[in-house]
Amino acid sequence: MKPNSITRCLLLLVLSISVHAGADAPDPLLQTFTELAPGVWLGNRPDSTRLPVTPNTTFVIGADGVVVFDGGNLPLVADRVIEKIRALTDLPVTHLIISHWHMDHVLGVSRYLHAFPQVQIIAHPYTRELIARYLAQHDQDMRNTVSDNAPEIAAMLEKDAQSTKPVIDAKTAAWYQQFVDDSELLEAQYRNFVPAYPNLVIDGNLSLFSGGRDILVQSLGTGNTPGDLVMWLPQEKILASGDIVVWPVPYGHGGHPKEWAQTLRKLAAMDFAWLIPGHGDVQTKPVYMELLGATLESVSSQMTLFVAQGMDQAAAKTALDLSSFEAQFTGGDAFLAARFDEWFTDPIGTAAWLIARGQDPEIVQ
Ligand SMILES: [Zn+2]
Repeated sequence: MKPNSITRCLLLLVLSISVHAGADAPDPLLQTFTELAPGVWLGNRPDSTRLPVTPNTTFVIGADGVVVFDGGNLPLVADRVIEKIRALTDLPVTHLIISHWHMDHVLGVSRYLHAFPQVQIIAHPYTRELIARYLAQHDQDMRNTVSDNAPEIAAMLEKDAQSTKPVIDAKTAAWYQQFVDDSELLEAQYRNFVPAYPNLVIDGNLSLFSGGRDILVQSLGTGNTPGDLVMWLPQEKILASGDIVVWPVPYGHGGHPKEWAQTLRKLAAMDFAWLIPGHGDVQTKPVYMELLGATLESVSSQMTLFVAQGMDQAAAKTALDLSSFEAQFTGGDAFLAARFDEWFTDPIGTAAWLIARGQDPEIVQ
C-alpha cells in the first residue's frame, strides 16, 4: 500500500487518527487540561496531526452538573476526561454533546453512560443515523483499525528504508513510526470499544441553564457534515465548533463545501473570545475560519465549472487548484502540505464533484 492510501485508509476508518518521534514521547491519548474561564475546561492533545487524530474536549461545570462537548475519541480518553472532572467536582456529567458522527467523536461515549447512567447524550438526528449506519457496516473495520494498518505501515517503512531511492521523508517516516510504536496501546482501545448512541436528538437549538450559566447547543447548518452541532457559552464568549473548524489543516471527507462556507461565516460573525476547534489550537480571531471559508467557496465554484464542462472525476480533481490557499494553511511545510492534500484536497474534491453532479457525497451510503 502506498503512503497516501494508508493514511487515507486510517482517516476514513477512524476519522478519528506532530511528529513526536521517540520512545519517551507521551502516549498518543494524553491530553492537557486548561481552564479557559471559571469552570470551563479544554482537554487538548497538543500534537494535532499525530495519529490517531484526537478531538478537543470541552467541559463546563455548572451549578447542578457538568456538560461535556466531544468527550474523547476512545474509551481511555473518555476515562481520563471523567477522571479529571471527578477531581474537580462531585457533580455528575448530565449532558454529553456529540458534535458530529465521525468515529473519533463517538468511540468514547459508552464510558460516560457507564460512569453516569442518567447522562443525556445529545446529537443531531443525522448524527445518530450516521453513527448507527457506520457501525452497522464497519464495526469490524473499526476494531481492526490498528491491527490491519500498523503491520502494513511498519513493512512500508522497512521497505522504503532499505530502498536505494527512499521516497518517504524523515519527518513523515517518524510520524508513521510513532503510530507503529503506539500500536499496542491503541489496538486495545479500538478492539474493545462499546457502541453507544445519542439518546436525545435536536434539530435546531437547545438552551441548557445551570445556575447562572447559559449553555447553548446550536445547529447552524451543514458544516463538516449535515449534522454538526456547536456549543456557545454567551457569558464567557467561548465557542466549541466541532470539526467545522480543524487546525492546522481541515478534514474534507464527505463535506458540502458551499454550505460549509456559509456556516463558517455564521461562526466567524459570532463575538467569541475563544474558538475551540474540533482538533488543534484554540483560535482568538476569525482569520483561519475566513481562510477555510474562502477555500471551500473556491472548491465549490471550481468543481461546478468543471462538471459543467463535462470533466470526469479524475480530470476535475486534477484540475482543482488550491495552491494559493494551501500555502496559507501549511506555511510551506512539506509534511503539512502532504496532510492538506490527503485530508482535505483529495476528499473535498471527490465530495464537491459528486455534489456538482447532484449526488450525495457522504462517505457512508
Ligand atoms: Zn474529528
